[in-house]
Amino acid sequence: MDDSAPPAPASLSERIRARIQAAGQRYHANDNIAQFIDGQQELGALEDEVAQRIQGLLEALVIDTESDHNTQETAKRVAKMYVTEVFRGRYQPIPSVTEFPNAERLNELMIVGPITVRSACSHHLCPIMGRVWIGLLPNEHSNLIGLSKYVRICDWIMSRPQIQEEAVVMLADELQSRVKPDGLAIVMEADHFCMHWRGVRDSEAMMSNSVMRGAFLNNASLRAEFLSLLRKKG
Ligand SMILES: [Zn+2]
Repeated sequence: MDDSAPPAPASLSERIRARIQAAGQRYHANDNIAQFIDGQQELGALEDEVAQRIQGLLEALVIDTESDHNTQETAKRVAKMYVTEVFRGRYQPIPSVTEFPNAERLNELMIVGPITVRSACSHHLCPIMGRVWIGLLPNEHSNLIGLSKYVRICDWIMSRPQIQEEAVVMLADELQSRVKPDGLAIVMEADHFCMHWRGVRDSEAMMSNSVMRGAFLNNASLRAEFLSLLRKKG
């Protein structure tokens, strides 16, 4: 190799990765990296790089994207779908959420859901479609947030390549730090398409899991009340 040759200019993804590493942050599939991307214009340039690399993937799969009219624009379409739609929860900052004090001192069990979940598994990048229910037991010091904000926060966390067990914990952590309730419960039930499309091709591939914190962990009757209300709401 010629030592005098100038180094190849770093790709945008390499530059973004270098910023994240310099900050000592994690960048797993289900982490948000919005703070390391310099605005929507740079995100657009990242989408272009993703499209180029998906084009490379199609070529590696020996697909003739030049004469096959069906796949001519596939790389661009998939890049756009990943960056601006199904994985946007990695690249967009958290939606703005106004918290307001619990002026009425509400301290009754609150249930939000079912919230529709559209996610993808980190293992195969196959869709995960499901529902989430959130149970909250506020106290007088809790902050309250509007109902639609639970949906937006949930969507922000789910629209990344995820692992269901980690997704519910991430959602619980986010809500715990904002609302500061006495108790927090999350139940997620989802259909993993990698189980239908590949592998065992099991048509019954529902997975359920839950996180219980605070009062929901300590108080069996509160937990039972939440679970029975959730069943009624279907
Ligand atoms: Zn999978």
